[in-house]
Amino acid sequence: MQPDVLIVGSGMGGATLAAALAPSGRRIVILERGERLRDCPEARDPHAIFGRGFFRPKETWRDIKGEAFSPGNYACVGGNTKFYGAVLLRYRAEDFRPLRHIGGTTPGWPISYEELEPFYGKAERLYRVRGDATGDPTEPPRSSVYPFPPVPDEADVASLRRSLAAQGLHVSALPLGVDIDRWLARAPTAWDAFPDTTGAKADAETAGLAEALRYPNVTLLAGTKATRLLREGRRAAGVEVERNGGRETLSASVVCLSAGAIMSAALLLASTDGEHPQGLANSSGQVGRNFMNHNLTAMIAYNPIRRNRTVYEKTIQFNDWYLTGGPNGEPLGNVQMLGRVTGPILAGESGLPLWLAGHVAERSMHIMAMSEDLPDPDSRVLWRDGGIVLDWRRTNLDAHRLLVSRLGRTMRRAGWPIVLSRGFPKSKPSHQCGTARMGADPATSVVDANLKAHDLDNLFVVDASVLPTSAAVNPSLTVAALAFRAGEHIRSRVFPA
Ligand SMILES: Cc1cc2nc3c(=O)[nH]c(=O)nc-3n(C[C@H](O)[C@H](O)[C@H](O)COP(=O)(O)OP(=O)(O)OC[C@H]3O[C@@H](n4cnc5c(N)ncnc54)[C@H](O)[C@@H]3O)c2cc1C
Repeated sequence: MQPDVLIVGSGMGGATLAAALAPSGRRIVILERGERLRDCPEARDPHAIFGRGFFRPKETWRDIKGEAFSPGNYACVGGNTKFYGAVLLRYRAEDFRPLRHIGGTTPGWPISYEELEPFYGKAERLYRVRGDATGDPTEPPRSSVYPFPPVPDEADVASLRRSLAAQGLHVSALPLGVDIDRWLARAPTAWDAFPDTTGAKADAETAGLAEALRYPNVTLLAGTKATRLLREGRRAAGVEVERNGGRETLSASVVCLSAGAIMSAALLLASTDGEHPQGLANSSGQVGRNFMNHNLTAMIAYNPIRRNRTVYEKTIQFNDWYLTGGPNGEPLGNVQMLGRVTGPILAGESGLPLWLAGHVAERSMHIMAMSEDLPDPDSRVLWRDGGIVLDWRRTNLDAHRLLVSRLGRTMRRAGWPIVLSRGFPKSKPSHQCGTARMGADPATSVVDANLKAHDLDNLFVVDASVLPTSAAVNPSLTVAALAFRAGEHIRSRVFPA
């Protein structure tokens, strides 16, 4: 029997949408190209993960010069959230309005923070977020409290928190979807970039999908890769898939694309037909454009005579320069702990010999600077010769450099005199977004404020593609909140009782 809703992708957007729609009783089928991750020794082995790239997908993409690279983009049930740092932050209220940055002014969103606020609350409950909304002056207003208290600071992080506060900074708890006791029971490691195989991280599989699959009307088809969308007039008529070694076409009343910002854009661009040589939902020519991914720098603050005895470290942040840190009051970005870097991790990421990496890692604190990447129509995902080309043009780099140098000074004052920093490589688009942006104007956006494609009556895009701006906070909670909001729209307007 034909389902009511087909969802392509079981990551943050797709799984949350399924959870939002499940109580409606509508028949929902989720197509996921990957399989469920099984527990294995490598899941907590930093040598395997960072040194050997054990979980890295086998596919390659190309950059605009034609050079192939292996993207840090995971294909499994739960998508990239299986490996995520589980930092579940709300965008700040100001992020929804035009903001003047050093690198340009952002467009406003077609919805306000206030319109998304109740859905942030639903997302925080589904993803069992541990947090404390006090102490951060940029924290937006909220109508609900965090469902759990924050993950506790370890002693060395508590000490860093005091040193930062002594410099006048407003340090607050990083909101996290991690059950720390359960996580540590499997092995004493950090969780960022380690896959969750025990349910200790609230990710798209263990939270969103688990909730959706409690309902008999929801089915997951893992190992099912969508290759193309078919169109009939103003409707998405079907999804061509590869499955069990064969090809078939599935159809539904409503089709939701939740394959992630790069794969969703690629699927739309690959779905050409005689009338639409630019691909589906792309009369604006905007599909694939405005690709953003944050400017991220990992920093190692080293002191040869101090030890870092932490296991997970990733519990604090500050946003003192988030809205107004620049020379003329421009935003600079967010600062948060990176997550515990150990010798094998540093050796795997930097190529340093293990003994030296171990020496540095054990005598340093590990912190991350994150600045907004602004939408640029020339920064884009292309579909060429049956493959993905990523032409990511970074923006707003002066703001990021300023953030990094200010953070370096701050860490030196906090008692860590040597600060090493390294930008995240372009081959790891972990905070990818923007490639099918939401907007009121069909000439400059791909989907409307309810995430329905302007060009088609039954196609929704529900993932990080739709974000009009990247802000300077981790994207997942905003993707989940938007999925709840789109789910409510589909339930009440597309399938009214
Ligand atoms: C190492 C790492 C750490 C991160 N840490 C954080 C963090 O701390 N906080 C945060 O907010 N964000 C973090 N992120 C980013 C976060 O994971 C993404 O923002 C989020 O997963 C985006 O949700 P999505 O629905 O757009 O895509 P995804 O969650 O990636 O889901 C896309 C899904 O679609 C599937 N798919 C793709 N193509 C097809 C196809 N053709 N057919 C069928 N299925 C398909 C994929 O396999 C995947 O399951 C991190 C990412 C990484 C890689």
